[in-house]
Amino acid sequence: MPSPRAPAFVPGDDVAANLAHVRRRIAAAAAGVGRRPSDVALVAVSKNQPAVRVAAALQDGQRAFGENQVQEAQAKWPALRARFPDITLHLLGPLQTNKVKAAVATFDVIQTLDRPKLAHALAAELAASGKRPPCFIEVNIGEEPQKAGVLPAELPQFLELCQAELNLPVVGLMCIPPLGEIPAPHFALLAKLADRHRLAERSMGMSGDYEDAVTLGATIVRVGTAIFGERAPKAG
Ligand SMILES: *Cc1c(COP(=O)(O)O)cnc(C)c1O
Repeated sequence: MPSPRAPAFVPGDDVAANLAHVRRRIAAAAAGVGRRPSDVALVAVSKNQPAVRVAAALQDGQRAFGENQVQEAQAKWPALRARFPDITLHLLGPLQTNKVKAAVATFDVIQTLDRPKLAHALAAELAASGKRPPCFIEVNIGEEPQKAGVLPAELPQFLELCQAELNLPVVGLMCIPPLGEIPAPHFALLAKLADRHRLAERSMGMSGDYEDAVTLGATIVRVGTAIFGERAPKAG
């Protein structure tokens, strides 16, 4: 719900204007490589953002949102869904197996399927709930030691497990390139892997690099700060 305090109106704090700007740039990047703007879905990443900014995006017609944490999403979104039933909520953060049930109840799309244990837990919960949320396999595209995601070399076996063995609704791949590296080669590799495995969806590109991602074949970009402004520091 919007907070009773009006937000300070500084340049860049106009969520509708920011959304229009991001949508224009997505359309221009798509046109530059002969793609249609409608080929690219914009997921507005609302983690740690004040309710008043999320409300502004909803009022502007934005309907796809991303959150990193099951608990934060559970607290924020049921009330908003009651008012805007056509919302699509994407899980973008790591998912612990003990939160799978809550995640499936809260999210419409799971973008962070990243390990066999989670694949098994998710398959069990989908069977129990009867739900089939589109799932993305997160690829550790820069092969970073501490990072979540399946290594590119492990992708064929993991896909085999998810699709053939567990019948999970895998629709695409997702990546977060290494901080401080030029993202384009990583986006190109993710697109190549998706092509190779005949997966239509590629979730790649954030506030700093979504145009490059669109140029290189993103079907979903995940944009937070360029729409909502800087995030509040995490509570607690
Ligand atoms: C936070 C986050 C984003 C959005 O990042 P911005 O730089 O604010 O656009 C996108 N994807 C994931 C997985 C995130 O965690």
